[in-house]
Amino acid sequence: MLGGGSNLLVRDEGVAGVVLSLSDPAFSKIEVDGTRITAGAGASLSHLISHSVKAGLAGLDVLVGIPGSVGGALHGNAGGKSGDIGQHVRTAKVLTISGEVYVRQEDELSFAYRFSSLNELIILEASFELHHEDPEEITRRMRKLWIMKKATQPLTFQSAGCIFKNPRGMSAGWLIEQAGLKGTKVGEAEFSDRHANFIVTRPGATSQDVLKLIDLAQAKVSSQFGVDLELEVQIW
Ligand SMILES: Cc1cc2nc3c(=O)[nH]c(=O)nc-3n(C[C@H](O)[C@H](O)[C@H](O)COP(=O)(O)OP(=O)(O)OC[C@H]3O[C@@H](n4cnc5c(N)ncnc54)[C@H](O)[C@@H]3O)c2cc1C
Repeated sequence: MLGGGSNLLVRDEGVAGVVLSLSDPAFSKIEVDGTRITAGAGASLSHLISHSVKAGLAGLDVLVGIPGSVGGALHGNAGGKSGDIGQHVRTAKVLTISGEVYVRQEDELSFAYRFSSLNELIILEASFELHHEDPEEITRRMRKLWIMKKATQPLTFQSAGCIFKNPRGMSAGWLIEQAGLKGTKVGEAEFSDRHANFIVTRPGATSQDVLKLIDLAQAKVSSQFGVDLELEVQIW
């Protein structure tokens, strides 16, 4: 399942299989009913956020600046310091590998740091419970968050976001930096000098370049700090 592809590294050889994408507009509908908003998994997360803000609904605004689709965000419980998508989910419609469609209720779902129990073949749709707030106030808050993100993340370069999950109580970026890897380059890929948990790429970069940097960080951080860095990015 391909969402927006913003958390994926596809090997140079490509994918030996079928890649599905919910690109038909039928999968991108967004509907508001009171404080409940329902979105197709193919919708972009930024559309869902802007719809909710226009309707004066707060909650998802903390996800501002996270690229990708609603389906991808649900799969990995996208979020940050101010909250994650999972805490607002009330129902999720899924399609199983045997072709059954069913709706999972809130009490059948669990979300944690970059984890969701939505492990069926396809997430089709989800509903979110939000709360009313003045759209101008929400927008002001979003603007602040966005400015902070722009100051700390290398958003002008191509990347797949954070490469590694933060180990419990630690920052993966800090560990990579302390291992002396900030700015280290392989081919046209390098650990960002703005945020070392981002690998930024320039034209001509290959997946192999990125994979070499990943191996290097895992080896150095393990030997210097005894910490095993776990991937956040999915490698296909
Ligand atoms: C600049 C930048 C900043 C980022 N900042 C953040 C951040 O602050 N917080 C954060 O959590 N992430 C962040 N990310 C990572 C990424 O944007 C999120 O993980 C995003 O939610 C991935 O969504 P996507 O649609 O692009 O998923 P993809 O990358 O396409 O896929 C990710 C995974 O989800 C699965 N998937 C996608 N759609 C479906 C579906 N409909 N059904 C079942 N499985 C599906 C895929 O199979 C894959 O395993 C950032 C990325 C970038 C490039």
